[in-house]
Amino acid sequence: MQLNDLKDQLTTKTRDFLARGKHRMLIGGQWVEAAGGQTLAVINPASEAVIATVAAGQPADVDAAVAAARKAFESGPWSRMKPAERERLLLRLADLMEQNARTLAEIESLDNGKSAAIAQAVDVGLSVSYLRYMAGWATKIEGSTVDVSVPFMPNAEFVNYTRREPVGVVAAIVAWNFPLLLACWKLGPALATGCTVVLKPAEQTPLSALFLGELIQEAGYPAGVVNVVTGDGIAAGAPLTRHPGVNKITFTGSTEVGKLIGKAAMDNMARVTLELGGKSPVIVLEDCDPAVAAAGAAQAIYFNQGQVCCAGSRLYVHKKNFDRVVADLADQARALKIGHGLDPLAQMGPLVSQEQMERVCSYIDIGRQQGGEVVTGGGRATDIGYFVQPTVMTRVDQKARVVQEEIFGPVVVAMPYDDLDQVAAWANDTPYGLGASIWSNDLSKVHRLIPKIKAGTVWVNCHNLLDPAMPFGGYKQSGFGKEMGRAALDGYLEQKSVFMAV
Ligand code: NAD
Repeated sequence: MQLNDLKDQLTTKTRDFLARGKHRMLIGGQWVEAAGGQTLAVINPASEAVIATVAAGQPADVDAAVAAARKAFESGPWSRMKPAERERLLLRLADLMEQNARTLAEIESLDNGKSAAIAQAVDVGLSVSYLRYMAGWATKIEGSTVDVSVPFMPNAEFVNYTRREPVGVVAAIVAWNFPLLLACWKLGPALATGCTVVLKPAEQTPLSALFLGELIQEAGYPAGVVNVVTGDGIAAGAPLTRHPGVNKITFTGSTEVGKLIGKAAMDNMARVTLELGGKSPVIVLEDCDPAVAAAGAAQAIYFNQGQVCCAGSRLYVHKKNFDRVVADLADQARALKIGHGLDPLAQMGPLVSQEQMERVCSYIDIGRQQGGEVVTGGGRATDIGYFVQPTVMTRVDQKARVVQEEIFGPVVVAMPYDDLDQVAAWANDTPYGLGASIWSNDLSKVHRLIPKIKAGTVWVNCHNLLDPAMPFGGYKQSGFGKEMGRAALDGYLEQKSVFMAV
């Protein structure tokens, strides 16, 4: 089905949103153009057509957004709001998102290329459940009382306690692979704890954040509590990370940019959370049914076109079953129906941009040049649209670039192994440590392997699963700090010690 044939099926709200053509950004409760009037084109990756323009934020816009967030944090209704009111506002926002789930999913699909049906279930569904989870924490932020024994004042009496306080103005900068969900990973804990936010979506996928900004206003958030600055990394992102008015930077994106942001944060002693890249192993033990392993491996790498930070992009299969699993996986890859995200039958959409498509294809070429064999796939899938064939590559060396570096597309490298120690060593042998999955019902081996894996999440007989209550974050160069779970709140709270002589 052609994309144009499906336009009539869009919700009225999606059509109205797109019909505006030119989108402004949200600063201090006002929808404004960039200070100098600059704009950026938004491209549908399935058709390569420009579907909108957004304001291209500049340093002056960042200054205005940080000032608005500061004002909302220091004075006005938000600064006086009780935790239960913050809880109610988050719940109201989650309800509005649920009511607009299809529209959000369609906007995400047209902007990013992903399946609208999956975006509705996963991206919007997880965002809504995460905001509700975080709403519950707003009323459960606690300090503790401490009995002290000051050694050099044995006869004095004190009352001591700790309080948790919001860190202040949060700069939230996110990647394009799950635009709405990544924004909500930042907004949930920031708003539950009483912080204010300047959100900068990725330049490739700014639209869902702008629609979310409208829902935030509809929910009743005071002006300046959430500001959305669209624009690229250099003109809008970097000035935000260097801004002295920012108390915390929370970033999801590449390790390369994460390192720059970590350094910028240190200059202002801003708190920082970095959710970065990955090269996650899928480890298939000897006992695992090859058909189960192949289905699991396909889901682990091809979900969201492989543009997943914890995608299972390295497949290690016990040598006994290696050929069978690779053959089954290749069959599954060949069977995936390629199509645009509004087509309900499509299973593999386009990559987000021409740049990303070219990057992924160039990695496939590098793999070939370094001796890899392409079992299936191997390049661009269509003349129009940024579609890449689901690819399986074998005969690669552990040190090959396609094994060591994040490709961030539908490309998996498969390697056979002999024993548990060897596969544990290979699983850990990249700079990353975001996720890993183990496929087996041999409990003893699974439990021996889990502590050896240096990754923030280990899945067993599943991959890429997330839940609001489970902390998510990286070891090694996959970043530091946690999203989700109770642990996420720590990144948005300071701890104050109160020492009172009585
Ligand atoms: P990217 O680092 O190029 O860009 C991410 C964001 O940073 C964008 O909003 C961009 O505009 C901004 N940015 C770019 N340069 C900047 C600078 N100098 N200063 C400030 N901001 C800047 O990453 P990407 O290509 O958009 O996203 C893909 C990467 O994100 C992959 O490496 C992927 O693994 C990672 N990712 C990680 C997680 C996680 O939770 N660990 C989740 C999703 C994606």
